[in-house]
Amino acid sequence: MKNVILELSLLQKEIGELASPAEQVRKIVDSISAIAGCDVCSLYLQDQNNDLVLMASHGLTHTGPVTIPSGRGLVGLVVKSRHPINIPKASEHPDFYYVEGSSEERFQSFCGIPLVRYGKVIGVLVVQSVNAEALSPESEGFLVTLSSQLAHLVADMPLSLRGAYFNTYLRGVKGSSGIGIGQAVLCDHGDLFSVPDEPCSDIDGTILEWHALLRRVQQEIKQEENSLGKLLNDSVSSIFSTYSSLLDDQALIGKVEQEIRNGNWLPGALRKSVQYFADLFLAMEDPYLRARHEDIHHLGNKLLASLQSSNSLAERAAQIPHVVLIGAEVSISDIAAVPGDKLAGIICFGGSTLSHTAVLANALGVPAVMGVGLLKNLRNRERFIVDGNSGQIVRYPTDMLCAEFQHLIDEERQLLNKLSALRELPALTPDGFAVRLFTNSGLLADLSPGLRHGAQGIGLYRTEIPFMVRDSFPSEQDQELVYRQVFEAYAGKPVYMRTLDIGGDKQLPYFPIDDEANPALGWRGIRFTLDNIQLLMTQVRAMLRAAGDEGDLHILLPMVSATEELTTFTELLDEALKQLREEGVAARKPKTGVMVEVPAAIAQLPFWRRHIDFVSIGSNDLSQYLLALDRNNARVANRYDHIHPAVIQELYRVVRIAGEHHLPLSLCGEMASDPLAVILLVGMGISTLSMSATKLPRIKYLIRALPQRRAAAIFKQCLSLDNVQDIRALLHETLRSLNLGELVK
Ligand code: PEP
Ligand code: MG
Repeated sequence: MKNVILELSLLQKEIGELASPAEQVRKIVDSISAIAGCDVCSLYLQDQNNDLVLMASHGLTHTGPVTIPSGRGLVGLVVKSRHPINIPKASEHPDFYYVEGSSEERFQSFCGIPLVRYGKVIGVLVVQSVNAEALSPESEGFLVTLSSQLAHLVADMPLSLRGAYFNTYLRGVKGSSGIGIGQAVLCDHGDLFSVPDEPCSDIDGTILEWHALLRRVQQEIKQEENSLGKLLNDSVSSIFSTYSSLLDDQALIGKVEQEIRNGNWLPGALRKSVQYFADLFLAMEDPYLRARHEDIHHLGNKLLASLQSSNSLAERAAQIPHVVLIGAEVSISDIAAVPGDKLAGIICFGGSTLSHTAVLANALGVPAVMGVGLLKNLRNRERFIVDGNSGQIVRYPTDMLCAEFQHLIDEERQLLNKLSALRELPALTPDGFAVRLFTNSGLLADLSPGLRHGAQGIGLYRTEIPFMVRDSFPSEQDQELVYRQVFEAYAGKPVYMRTLDIGGDKQLPYFPIDDEANPALGWRGIRFTLDNIQLLMTQVRAMLRAAGDEGDLHILLPMVSATEELTTFTELLDEALKQLREEGVAARKPKTGVMVEVPAAIAQLPFWRRHIDFVSIGSNDLSQYLLALDRNNARVANRYDHIHPAVIQELYRVVRIAGEHHLPLSLCGEMASDPLAVILLVGMGISTLSMSATKLPRIKYLIRALPQRRAAAIFKQCLSLDNVQDIRALLHETLRSLNLGELVK
């Protein structure tokens, strides 16, 4: 029997090299019929009406599009039954459905395997043979295993491969809320091998551009060689001569020209040519020549970088009215290159809710979806809908769907206009319960939006963000400079600064912690900083210096789960204060508190009362750890819900313990900006909430309309419900009855 993993990875590699989805599905059915030794292999995917569209077939003849109506035929039966159907004579089965004009009658056996992704049947893989024999159990098992992986490969393919676009929903994780519709501007950071093919609109002009590029890069190489020449040893300077001679090589020059004449744009022509020569070198016997494939790859990247600097992202964006930035990573400088009023959304293949891209998007109020996975065959100007509210994007959206989403965008705009009038008003419920609304921050860019929306302080300053946007650990002075601007902007207002919370999903580019099997349970937050006490000491000194004797500094400790962590930190803080005072700095002892995000912290709070001045609930991590659900894993994202009954019960426990021990309490996770969750939080008596700036007006609007007594009654009712759906339904109903349904569209 064949090795399924090996066959699948070969298939995956071959598919990856093909440019269009049409070629890819063809390859899939051809390869599977060869691997399984069957006469026919067909791939069906479900459309939005649950009809099954034939994507490609090896063996069946069909002249036009083939669609099997929902629930019809053996294929429909596979979808309904959700298990393989493997029979020797298909035509004798009561559910047999003949596909007109397919000459299917020649094939007797039928084996259909459901393609399932995230619990939903998305299509069916069918193999058929002329012989009236069912597949052997081994072959069936092989196809079942293959299909479980295949479902992920084909899920985002456009259903119509003839150019009519279709609404393909792809799930990621929420980066920043809101909806945006726009055209893609690809953010690739210079790896030539990720450049897509694009049609070339002006062949002669592009060939001239290619020659100009060659001259420019020759020049750049000469300059680099001149300026570094004296410092270089012979072996390094020989690299320059290798590059120069490659740039003069007629074979390379001619190959790129030929690719352009074949209709590819310059970056695509360059990629194909460089790949071609790199492969040639790689196949050589001589180890010296074989190693030259790296030179040609480096040179290719150099050419691309030079080309892109003359065709910058800003220039590409300038030609598009509504820009969706998209790429493996979207950097802060990419975002900065697009004027704010043009930026409709951001899509990242990787990343998480807390990637600095997401944090910046939040601060700027730009919808963002992270972690959608690699999108193949992307083109500049391709249309996307970015739905940051649900953490999904729509690829190939139809005009009709865009119009529906546009309607939601317009409603949202009207709501925000209405809410801007609330800026100076207090967040007070109609029955007099006052809520302090703080903002979460981490970039200097989001300081002013917070103030603009009327934040009463910073409830969570994520210090890892200034660490993330650099190439190395910032010095005490660097940090002091950044923190000082925070205190200046929020003069007279409380600022809760969290010590460095890296590890898990928050990685520093210059200090990767990537060798852990369970990063979320690993070296992160205070565990990391106490093991790197020099970093913590530097950071605390910088905070104390920046706050001086006027800043209202509160130090917040992340991921605390043990008393020793607190006692060690207290010693360090005392030592930092002593040092600074000896140095003549007017440092004041700040208030210190813990994030309640590791469930173990809850039971310990009474013991910790003498070490801390306040607590802040990090509901994002607390929910993740209570539910054992990775909040940044798109596969389980739909199961993660901070309104889970267990989360609510535990939050209430924290509220009660904090009340008994007179510990001031706030909440700074995503819950604070979710209107449904806020009904519960106000209902259980939490009176300080911290959220991203753009969410603040909406929450204030809710609080001003929601009597606390009513919230408390709803909360009590929710305590008796055992599932998220019922709780959500009750909360939605509450909002509707208060005429606040528009807050959660
Ligand atoms: C949280 O866990 O809820 C929190 C606010 O911290 P972060 O999201 O930065 O992990
Ligand atoms: Mg956290």
